[in-house]
Amino acid sequence: MAPAMKVLLVGSGGREHALAWKIAQSALLTRLVSAPGNPGMAGLGELRDVGATDVQGQVALAQEIEADLVIIGPEVAVEAGLADALAEVGIPCFGPTAAAGRLESSKAFTKAFCARHELPTAGYGVYQIPAEAKAALGRFEPPYVIKADGLAAGKGVIIAPSRAEAEAAIEDMLGGHFGQAGARVVIEEFMDGEEASLFALSDGQTYRLFGAAQDHKRAYDGDEGPNTGGMGTYSPPPALTEDLLEAAEQRLIAPTFKAMAADGSPYRGVLYAGLMLTPEGPKLVEYNARFGDPECQVLMLRLKSDLLPYLHACATGRLGDLPELEWHDDCAICVVMAAKGYPEDPLKGTEIKGADADFGLDVVVFNAGASRDPDGTLRANGGRVLNICARGPDLKIARERAYGAIARIDWSEGFYRSDIGWRALASA
Ligand code: AMP
Repeated sequence: MAPAMKVLLVGSGGREHALAWKIAQSALLTRLVSAPGNPGMAGLGELRDVGATDVQGQVALAQEIEADLVIIGPEVAVEAGLADALAEVGIPCFGPTAAAGRLESSKAFTKAFCARHELPTAGYGVYQIPAEAKAALGRFEPPYVIKADGLAAGKGVIIAPSRAEAEAAIEDMLGGHFGQAGARVVIEEFMDGEEASLFALSDGQTYRLFGAAQDHKRAYDGDEGPNTGGMGTYSPPPALTEDLLEAAEQRLIAPTFKAMAADGSPYRGVLYAGLMLTPEGPKLVEYNARFGDPECQVLMLRLKSDLLPYLHACATGRLGDLPELEWHDDCAICVVMAAKGYPEDPLKGTEIKGADADFGLDVVVFNAGASRDPDGTLRANGGRVLNICARGPDLKIARERAYGAIARIDWSEGFYRSDIGWRALASA
């Protein structure tokens, strides 16, 4: 068993609030410091105003509190090399090195990795010069999938129905719309099917599957409107049957961890596989080098085991010593409440009433882009502001609980999707 632990949790979103909520329940926890954290996390530990990408600041904070474990929430801290810097000072870190994190931070890296190790994914090409990228479209069928190479907060993918729109997307990306993240574009074969997100923990050698979820990326009901960071999730996703899960594990997850170690970049942390469930089996859409937000929220509600020993074991190479993870049989749902105008131009500063109410044992409200005035008033301070999460014996009941809580929150400048979980409920 791992010893008592002082923990530094890096990040400030709904994902980190959900992690803090779960970690705060751990019998092993002696001190939780979140940096920079959010108002919802204040009740679960201390907050310190150090940014997620301030690597030196985070390392100094970890040293100051004598952290036994640092948990990296967001991908920007992975890319900034926080795990590498912590390794230099000998502090265990849950989260991959920047090199291992290229599975998320460079789509070109991941496509080449998949090709080299024969992992199932869409055929592709990588281009830097607009004329070459446009000419290459001739080798693909519509709809065309055009992606910025680097991190673009989930907004760097265009599915273009026509060649003209694909050419415009190429011009836009290589023309600097995404800064350095768009210095290269990846063009991919279009894959048809339902999507699911599969998670796995690894200590660099051993891995453990860590549940699955399905999300809703579009802003409005009926999967309409612009792409967002995610407007809601539910778990487990019925589309990911046992057979498909087994196939994804054997053909993708297990060989990925093995190949990363063999390539000299052992992966320590959580790997998030975005899957397309195609008629030929599960194929990789993308890897992420951290928990999803808002996928993490539903996983935390369903996880029965104490999370902390597992995260610590990933950081210290001891995952193989721990028993299998245990999960509640319940379903979980997360409905995101966003500020009007999100994702383009969210309205900031508006007041939210009623979000602190007691919604009962099976409902938890996580904060994301929220702030709190000295007098306690809760305000919108970002795009996605609140995560209304609920558990229930089935998805229908979990969903009723979440929307029941939303009905009691008074925030006319916010919006949410009223159809989270529709796909799973339609198939049931
Ligand atoms: P990504 O950021 O790579 O996960 O892509 C964002 C979204 O674009 C995915 O969740 C899919 O819905 C869609 N997408 C990405 N790549 C493909 C592809 N090759 N075929 C079909 N849809 C895709």
